[in-house]
Amino acid sequence: MSHEKLKREISTETQAVHSGHTDVPSRDVVPPIYPATTFERAGDGSYPGHHMYARISSPAYEQAESLLRTLENGYEALLFSSGMAAGSALLQALQTGDRILAPQFMYWGFRGWIKRFAEDWGLGLGFYENPRLDDLEKQLCERPTKLLLIETPANPTWELTDIRAASELAHRHGALVAVDSTAASPVLSQPLSLGADVVLHSATKYLNGHSDVIAGVLVTRADNAFWQRVRSARTNGGAIPGAFEAWLLMRGMRTLFVRVRTASANALTIAQALQKHPEVSRVLYPGLPDHAGHAIAQKQMKGGFGGMLSVRFAGGQAKAQAVAARLRVFKQATSLGSVESLVEHRASVEGAGTFCPDDLLRFSIGIEPVDDLLADLYQAIES
Ligand SMILES: *Cc1c(COP(=O)(O)O)cnc(C)c1O
Repeated sequence: MSHEKLKREISTETQAVHSGHTDVPSRDVVPPIYPATTFERAGDGSYPGHHMYARISSPAYEQAESLLRTLENGYEALLFSSGMAAGSALLQALQTGDRILAPQFMYWGFRGWIKRFAEDWGLGLGFYENPRLDDLEKQLCERPTKLLLIETPANPTWELTDIRAASELAHRHGALVAVDSTAASPVLSQPLSLGADVVLHSATKYLNGHSDVIAGVLVTRADNAFWQRVRSARTNGGAIPGAFEAWLLMRGMRTLFVRVRTASANALTIAQALQKHPEVSRVLYPGLPDHAGHAIAQKQMKGGFGGMLSVRFAGGQAKAQAVAARLRVFKQATSLGSVESLVEHRASVEGAGTFCPDDLLRFSIGIEPVDDLLADLYQAIES
């Protein structure tokens, strides 16, 4: 059976475990690192290796792109030097006067950048109150929109937006849809299969999963004029990952499925346990039946609800910060989606203008044995 035929028949999970160029003469079981910046022409001027210059394309990152395209069921994937660089390419692909519609509640860093970028570069900008589809529809009716941005589950309260319904609305109004699916990862959700046009990941998070690579990715459902401008923004803007970062990302993605499943199972156990604690006023986790997005999560997330959860404390900000300071297994650090569990007081990180309640701690649940995590949480809350 040919390699390509076999590839189509095996699951994406097995493809993730085995991905990369292993068809080299020395029969390596893992892919090599490709540091080359330039590639040799044949006598007739052609490029037998199909690469010319590594700012345009390179075997260093085409392997990870090929896997990501498969995982997201897309037409093409482009890796970037960070999640923000991937998000910036979406903004750079817009043209003066185009309007972007962004969620009110989303990753704070990207939200701030969209605002500044839109002001400086003459883009229209509106915010809809996610996950309310009636508000989204109202805003789409008010003014022509070029790009609808969705983040689901959305920082830091993990609201779910119905990707299929929102994409139908946006398409009816002539807008393209980009989904930041960082918190779900391709293991739990495939936005392109639900009707979105582009999916964005901070590959720094679940995709790499080891807190040692900054990278981002965009995957498109189809080639079109917008995507060609995205590709041009990367090729000419040059926000490509380094060869070693791309290689590390490949290594991280070999264990993507087991990491995401374990983190999701841990998070559900922790959410159910903390929900009953008298010092906890609210656990925000899409896997809990009392979460506003639970029904949508059951529909568009498969195999788990993710490793991200937030907890609000009855004792307010002082209690939340005291708990964060007392945790010993959880590290107090920003970022998410890695093997180790992290905690962060988001309101003080986001600062002035934040929508995040000050009694809230955001937890990125890792893959440690859940009993260790629970014991750490109980000692921190009760001491
Ligand atoms: C971290 C993050 C980003 C930005 O990605 P970087 O890799 O840090 O540039 C964008 N969106 C979400 C949801 C994130 O968590």
